[in-house]
This record gives sequence, C-alpha cells and structure tokens, in this order.
Amino acid sequence: MRFANVRGRASLLVGDGAVDIAGASSDQFSHDPMLALGRWEELVVWAAATDLPCPTPFESADLGAPVPRPRQVFAVALNYRPHVQEAGYADPEAPLVFTKFPSCITGPYGTIGLPPGHVDWEIELVAVVGREAAHVPAAAAAEVLAGLTVGQDLSERLLQLSGRPAQFSLGKSHPGFGPIGPAVITLDELADPDDLALTCHLDDEQVQASRTGSMIFSVGQLVEHITAVCPVFAGDLIFTGTPGGVGNRRTPPLFIAEGNELVSSIEGLGEMRHRFLRRHPG
Ligand code: ZN
Repeated sequence: MRFANVRGRASLLVGDGAVDIAGASSDQFSHDPMLALGRWEELVVWAAATDLPCPTPFESADLGAPVPRPRQVFAVALNYRPHVQEAGYADPEAPLVFTKFPSCITGPYGTIGLPPGHVDWEIELVAVVGREAAHVPAAAAAEVLAGLTVGQDLSERLLQLSGRPAQFSLGKSHPGFGPIGPAVITLDELADPDDLALTCHLDDEQVQASRTGSMIFSVGQLVEHITAVCPVFAGDLIFTGTPGGVGNRRTPPLFIAEGNELVSSIEGLGEMRHRFLRRHPG
C-alpha cells in the first residue's frame, strides 16, 4: 500500500493516480492524513478488502508530506560508517538520537527557503510509526511501523556545530528542513525493506549513494532503543541517519546555493525534488 497526501487529503496511490480515502470509504476514514494514519491497522485491512474506484490523475506538486503533523520526530546521527569517518568520529556504541522539531516537516516537491549559513544535504530513510507502542523489541519493530518513506535531514551546519557540546536539533529545524515523501510505502511492497539503495543528487552531481543495509543500527534496533524510553504514536517519524558524502566534509566544502535542485531517491520508495530559494530577512 502507498499512502500519500494529495492536496491535503489522505489518499492511496494506485498506478499513476490517487484514490481519495474518505471518498472511497464513504467517510469511514477521515480525509485528514493524520487522522487516517491514527487508524492505520484498520486502514490497511479496509484497503485490502475494498474494490477501490478508478484512481484520478494528480501532479507531483499536489503531494504534501504524507505525515504533515507528526507528534514526534526522532533522528539519528552517525549511523553509516563512511559518514562516521568523514565526520571524524569513532563508531557510536549506541544510537545517537536527537529531534527535528515537527514544524520543519514539508512535502516531497517544491521550494525551500535558504536561511543564512551553510545548508547541507542528508538523504535518509525515514521509518513511519503506525500505532502507539512502547518497549518494542527489534525483532517486532515491523509490527509497529506503517512503512517507510524518503527524507532529507537538511542541516544548517554553522548553528548545528556551534557551541560545546554541539546541539543538533535547532540547526536542522528551519522551515522546510524536514521534507518527506512522496508516500508511505508498506514493508510488503518492498523485496528487501532492510536493504534499499539510496542516492542524493545536487543538480547533475551525485553527492551520496549507499544502501540502507549498511546502517550501523538497523531500523529495528533504532525502534527498540527509542521505545525503551519514549512511547511512540501513529505518524511519528524516525530519520535513520545519512550515508557519507555530505557537503561540509568535502574538500573544499560545498553547500546548497540559491537555484540548486536537490533530488533524493530511495529504491522502491520513490524520489523527492526540491529547489532552493534565498530566504529574505523578515
Ligand atoms: Zn541526519
């Protein structure tokens, strides 16, 4: 199942088109993506048992964040060895968890304003929680996930790395710094949900390429580690870390500039495209 937000309405992507969930269910499920996600298990059962109407066409610009207002957004630092090495650290002994404040979440297409500073890319697999849960063992993590989507952990490095110790969250939470999408894909749609190719292009240059199978801590291990402390809720997001190739570790460093297009793609999950504009003060 592919769950998306089309013009603000919870939708299923079918072929190249979309089916409106509220319309097809005679309002059994809400048009609001967050409310529909809140009944994820029922939604999956309904979708499998229902003869859906013909999908209607949509434009990529119609797609909003499939989870527009997550209650919690977890993110993980240093979860791919080449990125740990380029950042100059030793392998972490446990997941390094921070937050992206939820107001940074935006959709999979469109423009993003550049604040002053050094704005960098970080393609990431994002796990989407499908139901309230706590103390979930790694082996049972798939049971509490709605699915997976593509994310960018956009980061303004001057603010992120200022101060001792550095504090990550604020520099990664400017408006638009958490794009996700194009859809939440259930795990059964993927041949191997634990090993997906991911790539990031800045204009014509491929700047990141890796596989999610090379993560230091798997999605399951991250779910276990996080839910040992925090209960999670339907629609919560887990940004699982970025592979090597970020701009601030290049020689010379390279950051996103006005007019650049960033293309973020994960095998089986689709791609996001964003153009960057200079944000004017005030
Ligand atoms: Zn990141």
